[in-house]
Amino acid sequence: MLGLDGFPHRAISPELTPRLWDLARGGGRAPDGGVTDLPSSTDPGFCSLLTGCKPATHGVLTTSWRFARLPDWAGVETPRVASIFDACHATGVRTAAIVADDRGLLCTGSADRRWPPDGVIPPGTDLDAHGYPVNAAVLPHSSLGFVFGHVNEADTIGHDYGPESEAARACYRATDQVVGVVLDALASNWADTVIVVVSDHDMQPRDSSPPVDPMANGTDGGWDAYIPDGGSALIHLKPGVDPHRAGKALLRIDGVETWVRSNDSVMVAGLKPGRIVAAPRYSSGGFHGAPITARTVALVGGGDPAVGRIASAIAARRPHLADWAPTLAPLLGVDLGLVDGRNMLR
Ligand SMILES: [Zn+2]
Repeated sequence: MLGLDGFPHRAISPELTPRLWDLARGGGRAPDGGVTDLPSSTDPGFCSLLTGCKPATHGVLTTSWRFARLPDWAGVETPRVASIFDACHATGVRTAAIVADDRGLLCTGSADRRWPPDGVIPPGTDLDAHGYPVNAAVLPHSSLGFVFGHVNEADTIGHDYGPESEAARACYRATDQVVGVVLDALASNWADTVIVVVSDHDMQPRDSSPPVDPMANGTDGGWDAYIPDGGSALIHLKPGVDPHRAGKALLRIDGVETWVRSNDSVMVAGLKPGRIVAAPRYSSGGFHGAPITARTVALVGGGDPAVGRIASAIAARRPHLADWAPTLAPLLGVDLGLVDGRNMLR
């Protein structure tokens, strides 16, 4: 399983990403991409991917833990449910996790092999070449049952220069070449291999529209705090406030497109395209978090007989990030337990 951080579904094409294109041509691809929850940001998404549960269950509601210590109502920093690594560990299926972003992806701690070791990137590592450890780590470990690799550069470049920039397109092309090295390394085990490539969210360009401050609109909608996560905000309700009443008030704020409930006291406001939630800092080129960036890459390839069936499933219905772990776990012979996502092969 490869997670391409911030990689847009629309960037996959024969010209720009020939290896991903060929992989999907031999396997399959969700025609409209996959989907993730709001906020469409890194930590909620990858925790859904690796636990099979949705944010309301795994508890990681926002990626904003990276920038501040958050109040208790903002959920948890690491998932409160087991991951596919835990399930594999319980059954003796060997696993590895190679993550370019050591701050997030908070459910890889149970992997048998993990890079960076202890979550700390070794001194001297080239931080602009995060893809390379994926290659180096995957090559010698064909006895592993489940390998998760995370490459980060499309996210960084998208934030800094925008997802449609020349720099971003060059990064998409380079990311495809990294994927190609991994695919070449897997060639000798192709008949036994299922390769899933996803992204955690899309990216949209910044424009000049004013940030949306949920506290600055003069109306008492029933909330007393918010946490920005790009194009979405976690909204904390005052005790006893009806979420539907608060939701109606949120929709009256200029720039708000939709809302969803996280739990009894927390909801998520998702903004319209182009709009960003007022925050202490903004990236210069692109951002995510909103409904428009909840579209993920979702493709499958490899030589295992399950590949064709997964391809049919994702062609028929958009996969949620939480659907991948419960689909792959039975193929690995491990029990993920009760999760929110569905086994696409059932
Ligand atoms: Zn991300």
